[in-house]
Amino acid sequence: MKLKIVGSGGMFLIPNPFCKCPLCEEARIKRGRYERLGPSLYIEDINMLIDTPEDISVACDKQGITSIKYLSISHKDPDHTRGMRIVEPLGYDCIADKGTPIQFIALPEVIDDINAWNGDGLNYYENILKCISINKTDYIKIGTLEIHLVNNKTHRGNMTFYVISDGSKKVIYACCDVKPFVPNELYFDADILIIGLVSDNGILKDGSTLDMAPFKDDMFTLNEIMEIKRTYRIKSIIVTHIDEYWGKSYAYYQDFEKTLDNISFAYDGMEIVL
Ligand SMILES: [Zn+2]
Ligand SMILES: [Zn+2]
Repeated sequence: MKLKIVGSGGMFLIPNPFCKCPLCEEARIKRGRYERLGPSLYIEDINMLIDTPEDISVACDKQGITSIKYLSISHKDPDHTRGMRIVEPLGYDCIADKGTPIQFIALPEVIDDINAWNGDGLNYYENILKCISINKTDYIKIGTLEIHLVNNKTHRGNMTFYVISDGSKKVIYACCDVKPFVPNELYFDADILIIGLVSDNGILKDGSTLDMAPFKDDMFTLNEIMEIKRTYRIKSIIVTHIDEYWGKSYAYYQDFEKTLDNISFAYDGMEIVL
C-alpha cells in the first residue's frame, strides 16, 4: 500500500498570509516542508483522493498527482470541502460541455451534510455538470484494497474515519473531529493511525496553554494518543492536520518525534509505504 500526505495543515495554512509570527515568517523563507497546505490524503494504489481543502488543486500539482479516479470527503467542514471544485477540471470538459463522471464515495449522511453546507454542491456536480457519480456507502473494495468508512459520530456531527486495508496491512485515516474517539473493532492491530488534532507539548503560538484554549476539548494530548495506541495495539501514529496556531515548525517536530515511541508528524508530500 502506498499513501501520500498531500497536505498536512489544518484550518489555517502555514504560512498564514496575514500572519507575521516566527513560524509563518520562517515558512516564507524556507518553503518546502516548512509550508503546510490543507489536510488531504492520496491513496496511490487506486488513485483515490480523500478531502478537498480549498488549495487542493495547488497541492496536487505540487505533489505530482496527475490522476484521481476516486474521490471522497470526510465531513462537511470548510477546511475539507471548499476545494471540491477540483471535480470540474477532473470530470468536466467545458469546451464540449460534457461530463465524464469520476466516482465520489462517501457516507450517505456526510453527502447530506456537504450538500446542506455547500449550496447543494454535490447534486449540482452529479446532475448538472455530470462530472461525479455519487456512491453512498460505508464500504468499497477496489482490487485487493478495501476501505471501511466509519462514522465517528459525536456531538460535533458526522465525521468519516477511513480504515484502509490490503491483505494484512491496515491504515486508519482519522484527520479531523477526532475527539471523542468512538470505539470500533475495525481499529484493532492497525499498522498506522494517521490522526489529526493532537497537541504536541500543549503550548500554543502565543505562549498560552491548550488547557485554557476554547478548542481544548477538540484536541488529544500525547498521553491520550498513547492510550489509544495501546488500547488498539496500533504500531505507529502519524499526526496530521497540524495548525498554524500551534506555532511549531517542521524542524521542531523532526526533533520532537525522536523522543517519542513510534509517533511522528506529517509534512506535505510525506510518503507512507507498507
Ligand atoms: Zn503565523
Ligand atoms: Zn479539519
